[in-house]
Amino acid sequence: MIYLDHNATTYTHPEVRELISDLSLEVLNPSSVHSHGRRAKAIMEEARGDVAGMLGAPLAGNNYSKDAYEDEDYNIVFTASGTEANNIVMNSCVSLGYEPFISPVEHSSVLDSSRFLSVNILKVDSQGVIDLNYLEDVLKKSDADKKLVSVMFANNETGVISPMKEIVSIARKYDAFIHSDIVQAPGKIHINLLDLDLDYATISAHKFGGMTGAGALIYKSDLPLEPMIFGGGQERRIRSGTEAVLNIAAMGRAARIISDKQEFSRRIEHMMHLRNYLENAIEEKLPNSSIIAKDAQRLPNTSLIMTPNKKSEMQLIALDLKGISVSSGSACSSGKLGQSNTLKAMQVKGYDNASVIRVSTSYNTTKDDIDGFIDAFVEINRNE
Ligand code: PLP
Repeated sequence: MIYLDHNATTYTHPEVRELISDLSLEVLNPSSVHSHGRRAKAIMEEARGDVAGMLGAPLAGNNYSKDAYEDEDYNIVFTASGTEANNIVMNSCVSLGYEPFISPVEHSSVLDSSRFLSVNILKVDSQGVIDLNYLEDVLKKSDADKKLVSVMFANNETGVISPMKEIVSIARKYDAFIHSDIVQAPGKIHINLLDLDLDYATISAHKFGGMTGAGALIYKSDLPLEPMIFGGGQERRIRSGTEAVLNIAAMGRAARIISDKQEFSRRIEHMMHLRNYLENAIEEKLPNSSIIAKDAQRLPNTSLIMTPNKKSEMQLIALDLKGISVSSGSACSSGKLGQSNTLKAMQVKGYDNASVIRVSTSYNTTKDDIDGFIDAFVEINRNE
């Protein structure tokens, strides 16, 4: 069996599995004042520190050295998923009266999360990179005094990385706040929230070695946010409900593992090497196939392969029968293949009538896995 769908979800790291196994023997409610509760709270706060460390986001109230960034402290609110964190930001945007400016290639948890009264959908070029001139134009024309720009850091389908510094600098000129869905970044590309000057960011644990059931919203501590879930007032009243300490601890440990610089560089180099090997082989053996957004700056682990006059469904099934799990970039939760917002926005020619297969690797994907995929993919496309 070969698993090459790590952008959908990836394995829980072995060290994280060990931690979960130990912690699962404990009672963990961080709101309790007794010693068991205090221990749960300590575990959760350690995880918060690890997530902050991974993202270079000094936590409000901590004594980080922050010479260059006097007022820039972040809060982290734990959620149950990246979807929930994105929903909190977008729903806050509506209830606080911000005018939203959203990239067209966002995950549905941003694009469809809120009943926006009105929304400005931005533009991308043919490589899926945000059109900076258009962004500046629409912000300039807006007479709203409160604005929020939401652009993902790296696209889950194509792997295309956004020019975030430029986006932030344009948004600042027009006093807009910036949210970025950075769910696909941890473990694949270095990210530093302070450096990027992001206001709100979303992560999801199961994308980088934690477990499903934990995500987080990281935001500058002086910025407003509205809760979507009400109750006991946990997580700064933004996300009531007893915290899933086990899942949060797993996310913290996964964050700590990828914060190790050497480990991180080793992973990137390995995935980049496999990606280049895969893409060169596909282009050489199947001249009709092409790699979408090949010339853009992309994640080291993602390749979106388009083959004209084929159906993604048929190719996914054929690969599955050979024991290979990949996805079409546009698979939705029911497993059905929908139209891809991303490819539509990029105006990729002929994609309606083409198969689009996403291969996404991990630090522990092997060359044999990639060879297995190449052989199967070539065979399927030769035989059809
Ligand atoms: N944002 C992006 C870019 C994603 O790829 C995903 C998951 O596929 C999400 C958000 C949603 O995260 P979660 O699965 O934690 O709800």
